[in-house]
Amino acid sequence: MEEGKPVITPVELRQYHYCPRVVFYERCTPVYRRETRRMQYGREVHDVEVALEKQRNLQRYGLHQGQREFAVHMSSEALELTGIADLVVTVGAESYPVEFKDTTREPDLGHRMQLCAYGLLLEATRQTKSPRGFWHSTRTRETFEVEFDARLRKRTLQAIREINLFIKAERCPDPTPQVAKCLECELKNFCGDVI
Ligand code: SF4
Repeated sequence: MEEGKPVITPVELRQYHYCPRVVFYERCTPVYRRETRRMQYGREVHDVEVALEKQRNLQRYGLHQGQREFAVHMSSEALELTGIADLVVTVGAESYPVEFKDTTREPDLGHRMQLCAYGLLLEATRQTKSPRGFWHSTRTRETFEVEFDARLRKRTLQAIREINLFIKAERCPDPTPQVAKCLECELKNFCGDVI
């Protein structure tokens, strides 16, 4: 891989959707983000969910059978992307990434791009198709199917390109247009131009 070439993670696509500057500060500045109690709790719930998943069948994904792999590491130089999917379910010639989230909300575009990025990584690193993935809320116990259609793939690839560009250029991107997010943002001290 070209030296110094940024390789972003699917998680950063979700952060980028929340606010591009969150990714910029983490990648291009020495800002240290302390793990909050909320983040720690989310990580613990996530670990419990993964342990429980190993004892379940695949019914919640509408599947009768399939091969399950946990904590799947994938990297693609061509995509400039690297990450670890919570779970990958493979049925024949298709593989579906699965994400567990500690939230009561339904998946937004950031979550869908994150999931789609794992699908793109699966297709780039294996002889498989990844037409969809699953997003499971550990709070509501709801599972959402996310289609990786042409529109979502295009938006995901576009976001990967944009993030890599501003990281390479060390250029601070525009802030989120949703100022309400800034009010509760732990990085607001660094964004003197927004509030
Ligand atoms: S304060 Fe606002 S613009 Fe700055 S990082 Fe936080 S959400 Fe983004």
